[in-house]
Amino acid sequence: MKPTKGKRSGARIAKGRTQHVKGSRKAKAKRIDSKPGRPVKAARKPARASNTKTAGANRRAKPVTPARSESATPRPGASALLGRFDVAIVGGGPGGSTLAALLRNQGRSVCIVERVKFPRFRIGESLLPFSIDIWKKSGVLQKIHDIGFMVKRGARFVIDETLEEECFWFKNGLDKDHPYAFQVQRADFDKVLLDHAADRGARVFQPLSATSFLARPDKAILETKEGRIEAQVVCDVSGRWTFMSSRQGQRKVHPTHRKVTAFNHFTNVVRCEQDPSNIIIVRFGDTRMGWFWLIPFSDGTTSVGVVADAEYYRQAQLSPEQFLWKSIKESRAMEPRMRHAVACGEYRSEADFSFTSDRHVADRLIKVGDAGAFIDPVFSSGVFLSTKAAELAAEALDKAFAVNDFSERMFQDYEQKIRSGTAVFWAFIDAFYNRDFLKQMVTSRRRPLLQSSITSLLAGDIYNMDNALITYLTGKGGAFADEEMKALVG
Ligand SMILES: Cc1cc2nc3c(=O)[nH]c(=O)nc-3n(C[C@H](O)[C@H](O)[C@H](O)COP(=O)(O)OP(=O)(O)OC[C@H]3O[C@@H](n4cnc5c(N)ncnc54)[C@H](O)[C@@H]3O)c2cc1C
Repeated sequence: MKPTKGKRSGARIAKGRTQHVKGSRKAKAKRIDSKPGRPVKAARKPARASNTKTAGANRRAKPVTPARSESATPRPGASALLGRFDVAIVGGGPGGSTLAALLRNQGRSVCIVERVKFPRFRIGESLLPFSIDIWKKSGVLQKIHDIGFMVKRGARFVIDETLEEECFWFKNGLDKDHPYAFQVQRADFDKVLLDHAADRGARVFQPLSATSFLARPDKAILETKEGRIEAQVVCDVSGRWTFMSSRQGQRKVHPTHRKVTAFNHFTNVVRCEQDPSNIIIVRFGDTRMGWFWLIPFSDGTTSVGVVADAEYYRQAQLSPEQFLWKSIKESRAMEPRMRHAVACGEYRSEADFSFTSDRHVADRLIKVGDAGAFIDPVFSSGVFLSTKAAELAAEALDKAFAVNDFSERMFQDYEQKIRSGTAVFWAFIDAFYNRDFLKQMVTSRRRPLLQSSITSLLAGDIYNMDNALITYLTGKGGAFADEEMKALVG
C-alpha cells in the first residue's frame, strides 16, 4: 500500500457533527458550527493528473459563477428589521433552496438565511432518482445537467467477506420512469440550487446566522445575528445543526444505532467494472457492523468513506485518516480498489449522526430535511428526503396560505408523511444490517420481483404501497406480509 499524499492529522474522532482536521499541524478537531458565518473550506482541490481509465475521468465539471446573494450589512442591535416575507427559511442547503424555489413558483415572498458563504464542503454526494421530478418542478434540473455532474444509473452492493455482489439498475425498478440521478460535489451542487432560488426571486441573506424563533399570534419572528425577519411561517432547514430541535431539547440521537464515519476525496481509485459511474457500497464485519462508500465524480476524483460502530472505533483511538486506511487495508473488496489512491482533500469525520426530533412542526414552524431527522446514510437517502420534505412542506404551506391558518394542526399531515417516509428507509436500513436480508439482496438476480422492489426503494420510491417489500419491511401487512415476502423471494 502506497502512503497517501493527503493531509495528515493525529486528531481523534470526537462525538458531534462534522469535524475538520487540518493538515500537518497538530490542530485540534473543530466543529464546523463553532464559528457561525465563517466559510467552510472546500475539501476538493483541483484534480491532479489521474491515470484512472474510466469514462468521465479527467472531465471537469464546469465552474460555477459566484453566488448572487447579498451579504447582510451589520446593523446596530438585534432588533433591526431586515425584512418581511411570507416564509423565512433557515438554511440554504438542497432542502432550503428547493423549498424556496417551489414557494416562489406559488408566488410567495421568501427569504433564505444561510450562515456560511458558498461554495462550501458538505457530505452527501450520491443522489436518488426520485429527486429529479422535484427539481424539474422547481425549475433547476437543466442547470444541474449543465454543470456536467456524473450521471448515476445504478448502485452496486458487495459483501466484503464473500465478495458476493449485485448491481441494481434504476431502469429496472417497479417504476420505469426514474432511470438516473447524479453524483455531485456538494460545494458546486448546493451553489447551483441556491443561485437558482435567488434567480427565482428568493432573497438570500448570506452569510447570516439565525439565532432564535418566536411564534406570535399574528406572525413569526426569526432573530438573526444582524436583526430580525418577520414572516407568516419559519421553515427550519438547517440540516444536522438542528436550529430549532436543539433549542427545543427535541433532538434525540438514535439510542443504539451509533456510528462513526471518516472520509476524503481521492484520485486513482478503481471504479465499478459494470459501469464506472455506479456508487459502490461494501458491507463488512459483524462486530464492527459497517460499510464503505465509493462515489465517482465526473472530474476523475472519487469520494471514499467508511461508516462503522462508534464504540469500536472510539476504543481504537484512531484519527480519521488512520480509521479510514485501517478499514480499507482490512477490506477484501476495498483494498485493491484503493491500492494506488491519492488523497486530494481533508480527512473529515462525523459521529452519532442518526437522530430524530419529538416534533417536526409547531405553530408557524416546519422542520424540513435533516433539521427534523437524519437516518443512516447507507442508501444515500439524505438529500432526497430533504428535497421530498421541501416538496411536501410547500404543499402544506399552500393549503395554509389558502385559509390564512398557520397553526400546528395545518401541518400535521406533513409531519405524518415525513414520519412514514423515514420509517420506510429505517426499515430498509435495519434489513441491510441483517446478514440474511443482505444475502437475499446480493443474490436477487434470480428473483426479478425482489430485485425490482429493492431497486425502487434504492431510487427513493418510498410512498409506493404497491411495492410489497415496503409493506413487508414496515410490517404493515401483518401476517400477509410473510406471504408477500415468500412471493418476493420465491
Ligand atoms: C457520512 C454521511 C454520508 C452521507 N451520504 C449521503 C449521500 O450519499 N447522499 C445523500 O443524499 N445524502 C447523504 N448524506 C446526508 C446529507 O449530508 C444530508 O441529508 C443533506 O445534506 C441534507 O440537506 P439539508 O438541506 O436538509 O441540510 P444541509 O445540506 O445540511 O444544509 C443546511 C444548511 O443550513 C445552514 N445552517 C445551519 N444552521 C444555520 C443557522 N442557524 N442559520 C443559518 N443557516 C444555518 C448550514 O450552513 C447549511 O448550509 C450523508 C450524511 C453523512 C453523515
